[in-house]
Amino acid sequence: MKLLEERIKKDGVVKEGNVLKVDSFLNHQMDIELFEEMAKEWQKLFENKPINKILTIEASGIGIAAIVANVFKVPVVFAKKAQSINLDGEMYTTQIESFTHKKIYNVIVSKKFLNEDDHILIIDDFLANGCALNGLIDIIQQSGGKIEGIGIAIEKGFQKGGNELRKQGYQLESLAIIDSMNASSGEIIFRKTK
Ligand code: 5GP
Repeated sequence: MKLLEERIKKDGVVKEGNVLKVDSFLNHQMDIELFEEMAKEWQKLFENKPINKILTIEASGIGIAAIVANVFKVPVVFAKKAQSINLDGEMYTTQIESFTHKKIYNVIVSKKFLNEDDHILIIDDFLANGCALNGLIDIIQQSGGKIEGIGIAIEKGFQKGGNELRKQGYQLESLAIIDSMNASSGEIIFRKTK
């Protein structure tokens, strides 16, 4: 998506350790007009899918997913990071390793908000190694719901998550895919998409 690529070029900052900072428009200060354009793009890309729910993970997925939910006119659920897991059977639980914080989180979703009748679009800000998405997929599989697709704002195409998920057959639509980026020059190269 040209608009997002241009914004990344203008305001994104490449950091050491394969980290792209986009906190001026995506995951700290948030440009809601941009999110609306992104949501409309996903609406086109998933127009033939019977999506009735959006799933994301706190914290940085929530802002984008909320705008997407508004465009799709469906509810949005976010998976919560929990200190401890209460094993009373009311929650789906999984574990996710954070790319940015190098920590393992317990993640929960209440069984009240996800079940076998749901047709789910997963939304998140970044895709790197795929740990966050694999955790969300695990939770949906526990619920018996159907994964209709995955929408990602920025995929770092040089990390393994995207390839692995496409191989598994998911419709993964990343609005910007970075093939390479360089912390010393600041250069960012995007993959050519259709
Ligand atoms: P994964 O689980 O795919 O390895 O990493 C995805 C998660 O890590 C995203 O939800 C995002 O919050 C965070 N993340 C991964 N790479 C980056 C990055 O380059 N910049 C920022 N700001 N967050 C990232």
